[in-house]
Amino acid sequence: MANAQAALSPAPPLRLLPSVDQVLKAEAARAAVERHGRQAATQAVRDALDERRAALKAGAGAPATPEEIAAAALARLDAAAAPSLKPVFNLTGTVLHTNLGRAIFAEEAIEAATRAMRNAVSLEYDLDGGRRGERDDHVRGLICELTGAEDATLVNNNAAAVLIVLNTLSPGKPALVSRGELIEIGGAFRMPEIMRRAGAELAEVGTTNRTHPRDYRDAIAPETGVILKVHTSNYRIEGFTAEVPPRDLAEIARAGGVPLVNDLGSGTLADLSRYGLVHEPTVREALAEGADIVTFSGDKLLGGPQAGFIVGRRDLIARINKNPMKRALRVDKVRLAAIEATLRLYRDPDRLAARLPTLRYLTRSREDLAAQAARLAPHLQRILGAHFTVESVPCRSQIGSGALPLETLEGVGLAIRARDGSGGTIGRLADAMRRLPVPVIGRIDDQALVLDVRCLDDEAALVASVTALEGAHELA
Ligand SMILES: *Cc1c(COP(=O)(O)O)cnc(C)c1O
Repeated sequence: MANAQAALSPAPPLRLLPSVDQVLKAEAARAAVERHGRQAATQAVRDALDERRAALKAGAGAPATPEEIAAAALARLDAAAAPSLKPVFNLTGTVLHTNLGRAIFAEEAIEAATRAMRNAVSLEYDLDGGRRGERDDHVRGLICELTGAEDATLVNNNAAAVLIVLNTLSPGKPALVSRGELIEIGGAFRMPEIMRRAGAELAEVGTTNRTHPRDYRDAIAPETGVILKVHTSNYRIEGFTAEVPPRDLAEIARAGGVPLVNDLGSGTLADLSRYGLVHEPTVREALAEGADIVTFSGDKLLGGPQAGFIVGRRDLIARINKNPMKRALRVDKVRLAAIEATLRLYRDPDRLAARLPTLRYLTRSREDLAAQAARLAPHLQRILGAHFTVESVPCRSQIGSGALPLETLEGVGLAIRARDGSGGTIGRLADAMRRLPVPVIGRIDDQALVLDVRCLDDEAALVASVTALEGAHELA
C-alpha cells in the first residue's frame, strides 16, 4: 500500500524518517531528557515525528535528520515549560497597573514572604501562651498605630472587604449610597452588584451630580443597615455638584443610629503631600472625620500585596470577624508576612520613599528620569538600527488603580518612531517587545512607542532583553 502510494506521488518515502530511538540518541534529545524528563522528551519526539510524517504525506517538506527532529522536540518542550506568569518591564507610565499586578513589594516584604514560604510560622499560634492565636493579631497593633483605629481585620482584597462589611452590617437592609458614588471599577467590580451579592438592599440617595444632607436624613429609616460612602476613585464629577462632607455625613449617621462605612479604595497611610504629591485622603483622616468603618486596598497606594483592610470600631470589627465569610476571604501566611513587613516601613516616614517601590517611583525627580532616559536612548538606537529613531521626550505618568485619577506626574519617556513614519511598523515593534523573554510594555502615542522610564529599576536588564531585537529589520 505504501509502495503503491509512493509510486503515485512524488512525496519522499516515509521510511526515510528516523526512528524514535534514533532521535533520542541525538544531542538535543539528551538535553530534552535532562531538562524535562524521559517521559516528556519521548512524547515530544513522537509528536515531532508525527508532525513531520503528516507533512510528508501532504507532500510538504523533506525527511529530517535525527538532530533536526530532536531540536524541534526540545524547542517545543522549552516553550511549554516557560512560565505563563512572566516578569515584565512596566514602562506604561502607570505605576499601579492593575493588569500588571499593581504594587511591587519592598525588599523587606519580599524577605518576610520568603521566610513564611520556607518555614512553619506562628500564624495562628500564640507563642506566649502556647495556645491557639489569631492571624490578625500579627498586624492589628500596627494598623491601629498607623491609622488611629480601635481595631482592624484583613481579607483577600478591598472588594472582599466591601462585601463582608455590607453582608455583616446591612443584610437584607437598606444601605444608603449617593447616586454620585455608584461606581464601577474595571469590569467586574460594580458597587450596585457587589451590594446585591452582599445581601444588602441598595437605597440610592440624591442625584448623580448633587447629594445634600437632607437626602440622607430623609432616607434613614429604622431598618437602615449602613450609610456607605464610596471614594469616587477613578473619575470626578465636576460642574454643578454637591456632596455631603464626611464630617456632616458622620453626624447624620450618628443621629440616625446607623454606622457610616467609608470605602476609600486606594486609601493611603502616609500624607502624600509630605513627599511632594497631591494629597489623597488618608485612612487616619477618614476615621477622624467620623467613619465607623473604613476599607482600603493593600496593593494600591499602600504599596504592599493584594489585601483588603477593614478598620474602625471594635464592636463592628468583632461582628465582621464572626461572619463565616471571613474564613472564605482571609489572607494566607505569605501575604500576611509581607503586609506586616510593609506596614513596619510606615513607622519611619523619612525613609519610606526610599524603601517602598510604589512611593519611590511616584517621587522620582525629573532630573533623575531625564538622566536615565538619556543613558538608555543610545543603547536602544543602536539595537533597533537605522529604521527607527529613539529620543527622550517629556510625558505624563499616572498613579493608576484609581488613585488621584486626574492627577498626572511629569515624567520622561523614550519615544521610538519608525523612520518611514509608519504606524504599522510601530505596532509590529510593540508586538515584538511584548514577545521578548522579559516583555517590555510601553504605550502607543501618536505613531510612537513611548517607554516611560518611571518604573524602570534595572537598566542593564532592559538593554539585555531588547538586544534580542537587534537590527529589527523584519519589523520595518
Ligand atoms: C480599587 C477599589 C476597590 C476594589 O479594591 P480591590 O483591592 O481591587 O479589590 C473598591 N472600592 C474602591 C473605591 C476602589 O478604588
